[in-house]
Amino acid sequence: MPELAEVEYYRRVWAESLGLPVTGVLLHPEARVFRGCLQPLDTLNRLNGATFNQALAHGKQLLFGFEAAGWLGIHLGMSGQLRCEAKDSVQDRHDHLILRLPGRSLVFHDPRMFGRVRFDAATDLPDWWTQQPPDLLSPGFTRERLDAFLLKRGGTPIKALLLDQSIFPGIGNWMADEILWRSRIHPATPARQLAASAGERLWRTTREVTEDALRVIAPDWGDAPDDWLFNHRWKDGGFCPRPRCRSPLSRADLRGRTTCWCPKCQKSATS
Ligand SMILES: [Zn+2]
Repeated sequence: MPELAEVEYYRRVWAESLGLPVTGVLLHPEARVFRGCLQPLDTLNRLNGATFNQALAHGKQLLFGFEAAGWLGIHLGMSGQLRCEAKDSVQDRHDHLILRLPGRSLVFHDPRMFGRVRFDAATDLPDWWTQQPPDLLSPGFTRERLDAFLLKRGGTPIKALLLDQSIFPGIGNWMADEILWRSRIHPATPARQLAASAGERLWRTTREVTEDALRVIAPDWGDAPDDWLFNHRWKDGGFCPRPRCRSPLSRADLRGRTTCWCPKCQKSATS
């Protein structure tokens, strides 16, 4: 599932076409990705002739602006991808939306269709966009905001909280595991316990992992270095990448999500 760095990568794929006018719109009007869009065929045809002039990302949300026509919002869901292809690319059955531009096509592809397309005809940024929680690297993501949230959701395991988009926009499963591994926090630790002891560490590491993910993945989907948990967490039999540790990693289901941690570096919440 695309997390904030992968989403930023896809934003850049389309952003290379900023300044060009839309010359045609192809879509699958019955596709589930248009469930938030009334009469998608008529609605999205308004993009015809409009100049593509904005490409924004926030957490897992994307917003593309078209001068005087409106805003196209895209959430990639589980399996969504954005591509830019040669002019007359043929529409694959999972390419639910194609915008033709001079010399190229912008494609939204989503086999599982948990993704979502929406359209706002307004000139100003849509409310749903401006009302999103502060970006993790913005001044609005403060220690105080984090601590208040940890206390409010006191009994919840921290791993589950890290996936809550209302405080951690753009964090998904791999980033949550990476943050907890780097900050040596056991994923099942109740949030309340961290507010008192490790709030600062969690806040700093969240921003550090966000910066690292954007730096490595967003420009060209670069490979994560081997000293991140990332490369070791995907299958059974992985080892902690800390040179002095190298312990076998643990993997378990926590509130419905596969979670990976190092039992030596991330001591049990109750021990
Ligand atoms: Zn370890």
